[in-house]
Amino acid sequence: MGKFIFITGGVLSGLGKGVVAASLGYLLKSRGYRVTLQKIDPYLNVDAGTMNPYEHGEVFVTADGKECDLDIGRYERFLHQDLSASNYLTTGQVYWNVIQRERRGDYLGKTVQIIPHITEEIKRLIRRPVEESGAEIGIVEVGGTVGDIEGLPYLEALRQLRDELPREDTCFVHLTYIPLLSTTGELKTKPTQHSVKELREVGIQPDFIVARTHLPLTPDIRRKISLFCDVPPEHVIEDRDLPSIYEVPLALEAEAFPHRILDVLSLPARPADLTAWEDFVERLVRADKPVRIGIVGKYVELHDAYISIIEAFQHAGAALGTRVEISWIPSAAVEEDIGVLRGLAGILVPGGFGERGVEGKILAADYARREGIPYFGICLGMQVAVIAFARYAAGLPDANSTEFDPDTPHPVIDLLPEQRHLRAKGGTMRLGAYPAILKEGSRVRGIYGSGEISERHRHRYEFNLDYLEALGRAGLEASGLSPDGRLVEIVELSGHPWYIGVQFHPEYTSRPLRPHPLFVDFVRICAERSS
Ligand code: GLN
Repeated sequence: MGKFIFITGGVLSGLGKGVVAASLGYLLKSRGYRVTLQKIDPYLNVDAGTMNPYEHGEVFVTADGKECDLDIGRYERFLHQDLSASNYLTTGQVYWNVIQRERRGDYLGKTVQIIPHITEEIKRLIRRPVEESGAEIGIVEVGGTVGDIEGLPYLEALRQLRDELPREDTCFVHLTYIPLLSTTGELKTKPTQHSVKELREVGIQPDFIVARTHLPLTPDIRRKISLFCDVPPEHVIEDRDLPSIYEVPLALEAEAFPHRILDVLSLPARPADLTAWEDFVERLVRADKPVRIGIVGKYVELHDAYISIIEAFQHAGAALGTRVEISWIPSAAVEEDIGVLRGLAGILVPGGFGERGVEGKILAADYARREGIPYFGICLGMQVAVIAFARYAAGLPDANSTEFDPDTPHPVIDLLPEQRHLRAKGGTMRLGAYPAILKEGSRVRGIYGSGEISERHRHRYEFNLDYLEALGRAGLEASGLSPDGRLVEIVELSGHPWYIGVQFHPEYTSRPLRPHPLFVDFVRICAERSS
């Protein structure tokens, strides 16, 4: 049975609890501890699959196919380790389980209540990833802000866990905000005091206050927080605004945060080896050769919807000494004037759903092909490349995906034959990691340096095999296929500087310490051509 670190947040949302949780995970892992991270989203959604990226940002997918909050992606990047379905927990999931049990009669006629039945289920689900992975330390981030109605059953469950487990097996970290009053230039601690008071009202006394702040905490402020929140002064941890989230672990290390956490958990404070991370941050900050890459999408106003892609560009840029500057291009703007794509070193069309804006993406894919501009199509970005190629290079002017035109005479992208009769959308997506075999002599095989890969998926439609030959004859090569040859996973154009579409999401598995080869090669070619 592992030990637990619970992370709650106060004052306001969006303080970067996920980054603190992920950083702490990395710092403990680099001391040789087996660590896992869990995110609790107190929503009634059963998973993140039905949540709008406009509101919540990207939907991240684990290797075992769970649709999660973007924080899970952050955890994987910092921990440099795959997580699984049980690392993401929502209220919908908790109630779903309890209600199913109630229907089966498992509660033997008892009244089913939030305490104890919901809280028991929460505790079981919190323990699960630690048990499954054999982690010594489980870090659990409670989404939302202390005081939210939705969060109360979770805080109660955590309070119970603290009582049930030996004292040195749990540790509470509370992240708050120290606003800077611009008129006097003063840092104010009052909101922190209030949010700790709220935490105490539900029976939780934090062991640490992590204070998000614009300015360094003065000894005086630290003393004040320590006094009012009843934690030792060295348990007040500064979490200052930094240029890159990847600097946060190093700043928390400088605050001796992991050392003190281990002390509370009665675990030995082993030395840490942070050199690989320090090297990465150093290369990231020093990367100065700019390269401008356009992302053409529907939700480009909301960058969180593409967070894994942005991060993958950072990882690739750091590896190459290149600073990727992203131009966000709404697909509607491409439809109006293709000239918005002029001057870009490369074009990426990311994943997406629904008809709106898709014609602009098709035009962008075609423009990149004609103009010899490096093109990287991800999921929908691959599908629009296939549609564009069919229409403008293979003589099938009305080609489309049946997602956008169910009656198209040339459904080059379609549901699988066995799925075509299904009306429901739920449960019909291809989710999680699938293997692909890469063709001998293809560009992608050279990039991966391997003939077999595994990548994560999240889509419903597929390349229609009926068109494999016709499009192949016209020059679009299906260079990656599922092992049974029925699913086209990658297309590429030979005779073009770089034109690759992938049916999967390579951005999910790019990490600071292992940048994704497709992103590295794409950025490399863009940088070479723009210098
Ligand atoms: N809408 C497309 C499909 O369902 C692509 C999905 C995506 O880009 N993630 O197949």
